[in-house]
Amino acid sequence: MYGKPHPPVVGFLFLWTTMRQTTLKGVEDILPADIHRWQFLEQQADEVFSRCGYQQIRIPIIEPAQLFVRSIGEQTDIVEKEMYSFTDRGERQICLRPEATASVVRAYLQHQFDGQGGCAQFYYYGPMFRGERPQAGRQRQFHQVGVEAIGSYSPLLDADVVMTALRYIECLGLRRYRLQLNSVGCPEDKTNYAQQLRDFLSGQRSGLCESCVSRLERNVLRVLDCKNSACRQIIASAPHIEHAHCAQCREHFAAVQEMLRSQKAEFEINPYLVRGLDYYTRTVFEIPHGQLGAQNAICAGGRYDNLVAELGGSPAGAVGFAFGMERLLIALESESTAISEKTRPLVYVAGLGVVAMRAVFSIVQEIRAQGVAAVFSYEERSLKSHLKRADKLKANHAVIIGEEELASGTILVRDMRRSIQQSIPSSLLRSALEI
Ligand code: ATP
Ligand code: MG
Repeated sequence: MYGKPHPPVVGFLFLWTTMRQTTLKGVEDILPADIHRWQFLEQQADEVFSRCGYQQIRIPIIEPAQLFVRSIGEQTDIVEKEMYSFTDRGERQICLRPEATASVVRAYLQHQFDGQGGCAQFYYYGPMFRGERPQAGRQRQFHQVGVEAIGSYSPLLDADVVMTALRYIECLGLRRYRLQLNSVGCPEDKTNYAQQLRDFLSGQRSGLCESCVSRLERNVLRVLDCKNSACRQIIASAPHIEHAHCAQCREHFAAVQEMLRSQKAEFEINPYLVRGLDYYTRTVFEIPHGQLGAQNAICAGGRYDNLVAELGGSPAGAVGFAFGMERLLIALESESTAISEKTRPLVYVAGLGVVAMRAVFSIVQEIRAQGVAAVFSYEERSLKSHLKRADKLKANHAVIIGEEELASGTILVRDMRRSIQQSIPSSLLRSALEI
């Protein structure tokens, strides 16, 4: 109805100056049709984690790169190969966060949660960034939902964090998952075990893949993570870390298992589970899902008793986990778990002709002011096209106003489900729409 710019000219200029852009590799849009799935994961997290004593925290997406180098460890896949780091205009080394644990601990110290007594418990969700090879269940921008509990060395905390992860999975409706548990011991145990493992693997050097040969010198525990089948065969007869545990670590791990058994939580011990990040101590766990193929871990976590001190605080015990949200959605789909879309009543208001469209504008504002969702068309349409649109938008009611209605002070209200309509005085609109 109003003057339009000439599309061919605009189109040409547009093409001339720019090409149509797409997302980066391994980075995806989340479109309106899928948003209810994401909201489901977030709402369940709000519900379950707050029920378990956690409060939400929102930490920044960019941090000083050093935060992750110090916490995750220099010789880890994330820091060596996967971090998105750059130098900003002020010559600062910045990094897109590859995970949230280090940021949460940084925030815990920065805002003096360490002085408040008890255990500080946070949960979060949001995007993380790792420069990995994109494949099913592995993206460069992906999302995690997780918890961090900081301030206790008790095995009750390990067990409670694991129970919280299981509660979340149960509330999502997933069934085909397993819980794998191990203990990497304290730093001394880890060092002792690393020596034992190095001695064992040195004798098998020729059978190891190239990466594992270099891991042998630099971070031998990571050999246990290798997916290469020749390496896996060698690893299958490697010594178990439990033989390197000191008495306290053994006792701690036994207590965690006992608490989980008391809740009939099923788990298996995976003696080769060590996790790729340096900061883990004692309990580590992973939750693989049966239907996910190669990238099958939906959750990973564990205890990290040295991280708080490493980042400048007084020593404090801590445990946390993170779920990969994309993988949770794949797992839900593979189990055909229905995620219902929440809908709210919607009124579509159709104006026929320029004058009526202006009246429609006011009516829509009035309906919205009453707290009911209402939409209209910004462009002129035929009645048929209006109704088609109302149908597509799944409107419960269509309100139709033409010149005749304007002249007589009436409106047509159409019940879209039953396909019946009635003409009523416009003053009765609210009661007709039941608002
Ligand atoms: P993986 O062995 O699959 O690389 P990870 O040990 O690197 O996992 P964590 O850093 O512990 O994973 O992250 C916890 C969870 O986040 C993983 O179990 C997984 O569900 C998810 N995750 C990690 N990296 C990615 C990624 N690149 N794309 C999608 N999800 C991911
Ligand atoms: Mg990884």
